[in-house]
Amino acid sequence: MKENVTEKARLVATKCVDCAICVKQCRFLSMHGSPRTLATLFLKEPDSDLAFRCSLCRLCTAVCPKEIDPAHLFLAQRIQVARHPQGRHGQHRPLLSYEKRGSSRALSWYALPDGCDTIFFPGCALPGSRPQRVVDVVRQLQQEIPNLGVVLDCCTKPSHDLGRLDYFQTMFTALLAILKKRGIKKVLVACPNCFRMFKEYSQLEVETIYERLTAPGSLQSRGEVTIHDPCGVRFEGAIHTAVRRLITAAGCTVREMKHHGEKTLCCGEGGAVGYLDKELAQSWTELRRQEAGGQQVITYCAGCSHYLGRSMAASHLLDLLFEPDKTLAARVKVARSPLTYWHRFRLKKRLARILAPHRAHCRQRRRP
Ligand code: SF4
Ligand code: SF4
Repeated sequence: MKENVTEKARLVATKCVDCAICVKQCRFLSMHGSPRTLATLFLKEPDSDLAFRCSLCRLCTAVCPKEIDPAHLFLAQRIQVARHPQGRHGQHRPLLSYEKRGSSRALSWYALPDGCDTIFFPGCALPGSRPQRVVDVVRQLQQEIPNLGVVLDCCTKPSHDLGRLDYFQTMFTALLAILKKRGIKKVLVACPNCFRMFKEYSQLEVETIYERLTAPGSLQSRGEVTIHDPCGVRFEGAIHTAVRRLITAAGCTVREMKHHGEKTLCCGEGGAVGYLDKELAQSWTELRRQEAGGQQVITYCAGCSHYLGRSMAASHLLDLLFEPDKTLAARVKVARSPLTYWHRFRLKKRLARILAPHRAHCRQRRRP
């Protein structure tokens, strides 16, 4: 990714007509000014770290009638600032340690059977909070793809979004090298953030498991739910449709929130804004809570589910598919840190037993 922040800022400052359509929709812009105002500020003060308050959710990009992509400018600005040691925020340290553990020898795991060309990549948050769901998904996918591989690792999107592009590129390239060496062509992901990283930075075919899974099918009507589409897949209409198909097949009726699909809102976790400005992050969650109007929220990102779950009834789609009654009664057990690390460690052993008959070649990640 070649980032010329000055060029991008000039483009936004010239093209943006200050119509305020995006400003009215965005908590960050409504506090700090329009993309044009901020682009002009970045030209005058190249080291401004205001972009770390933007969730990088791309709602502005989705609503702009002039086809401007302010989110891309804010990411470029983060990259520029993060290049200087003084541009790094100590508050992000816990997130970076979490990320680092994800690709450690203890938690990473590549199980690639002979002749396998498709892997399931469940990401970090799902295996930690819901290891049983990873097992459920592997078992269902194996029925269709008998020599499915499984890779437990971190896509390092946190570093990407914090502007640590060199680290992200080193780690992600090393991950891709292992897959390439073993002839992997397709990645099935559970996490919308992993989806974006593989789609934008790999040559591999990428698909979400939601486009592959089948719902058990319910004759019973299970009432109404609403859906939170994660902003990582805001422009992926096929995923939105697949998710709604699964929820309907599970016996639920969907009531859409005002902001959904391409116009979805950030859950509050985006861009790691909460580490610097809790109130701003919480104000996004509050918007979601108001739009949900007391209805059970189903989402398909473990991070969103956790973040929204602090303020409203929010569940992961996989819980709804595999334990519908418990999910709708809010009785599904979801692990929290530090137990999540133990779950991820144990999951390697559980999956090794499931994959054993397929003679999977297993290895941990080595630090590049
Ligand atoms: S990316 Fe999201 S948070 Fe950032 S300016 Fe655009 S709408 Fe606002
Ligand atoms: S919607 Fe587009 S033109 Fe209007 S203020 Fe936002 S970036 Fe500028």
